[in-house]
Amino acid sequence: MTPRFSFSLHMTDGKARSGIISTPRGEIRTPAFMPVGTAATVKAMMPESVRATGADVLLGNTYHLMLRPTAERIDRLGGLHKFMNWERPILTDSGGFQVMSLAELRKLTEEGVSFRSHIDGSKHMLTPERSMEIQRLLGSDIVMCFDECPALPASHERIAESMRLSMRWAARSRDAFGDRPGHALFGIQQGGDEEDLRGESAEALRAIGFDGYAVGGLAVGEGQEVMFQVLDYAPDMLPADKPRYLMGVGKPDDIVGAVKRGIDMMDCVLPSRSGRTGQAFTRRGVVNIKNARHQEDPRPLDEGCSCPACRNYSRAYLHHVFRAQEIISSMLLTWHNLHYYQELMQGMREAIAEGRFAAWESTFHAERARGDIDPL
Ligand SMILES: [Zn+2]
Repeated sequence: MTPRFSFSLHMTDGKARSGIISTPRGEIRTPAFMPVGTAATVKAMMPESVRATGADVLLGNTYHLMLRPTAERIDRLGGLHKFMNWERPILTDSGGFQVMSLAELRKLTEEGVSFRSHIDGSKHMLTPERSMEIQRLLGSDIVMCFDECPALPASHERIAESMRLSMRWAARSRDAFGDRPGHALFGIQQGGDEEDLRGESAEALRAIGFDGYAVGGLAVGEGQEVMFQVLDYAPDMLPADKPRYLMGVGKPDDIVGAVKRGIDMMDCVLPSRSGRTGQAFTRRGVVNIKNARHQEDPRPLDEGCSCPACRNYSRAYLHHVFRAQEIISSMLLTWHNLHYYQELMQGMREAIAEGRFAAWESTFHAERARGDIDPL
């Protein structure tokens, strides 16, 4: 018998939730942070190193992989897990968001989106049916519905029109996905920052029925205040017994605020991208390693961190290799950032399980407010 995809909610503390998503490829502890493996790699990291940071699941990008090396080639080579040497669960996005942000000469119709590749100008079409086919060829464990969303701010009418199209696409995605035991299909709530539209979208998705539900259409330029206002009501509209995924978020304080409001899963390029631009996330806020104050500092980035960058290297070394544009700079800072994000999730999971999330959150904010350690 094929093991099923399932979610068990273990504890709640206020609106914050902890639980386990079970898949045939392993368990995902929630709240979960998913590192982004855009082009079948988390940049600057070996897969076993990503796992060592504590990640249970990775995100792959349909848009990038369909263009290069193509889903068909990945399928012929045994699927995305084998191709990139990551045996644990993979969630893939639908390609909808990235086609709207990256592709050229886009044309949006009821059928889908036609566009030209940002890599070589070749012509492509993404529809709900094609997105489901690509995600099946990749072998994704958690498949996302094909959708689209406007940048915020946008008018009520524009948000409503876009949301209703996405709901029609959600029904087509559900039909095209079919019955695939062990694999999950998530619906995506849209509706921007309009409460009535979020409600209408949630109703439409519930009527179709999904294995999990994402809150989409946020982190598109609205700022943290508006995002939290939406998260004060949007997750509550979705079924409580299914995982809730906030797409494309975010900074550490965004993530904590989202978990507090009932979100179970998140993904963001920020920890890996920042690792390549010399930014490190620590318990005491962001450290810019390129800053001259670090050039003779023998102390680690974060004394309390057990990642290889903090255990074995000084701020002076990290500063030097960043300035010298050595590859190890991206490797070490990405490792540290992913480790920090996973420790953040682990800390929240434990606090929720023990009913002390509010106290944990106060300490989180107080530590950050202290700022970085004083220069030598
Ligand atoms: Zn570290």
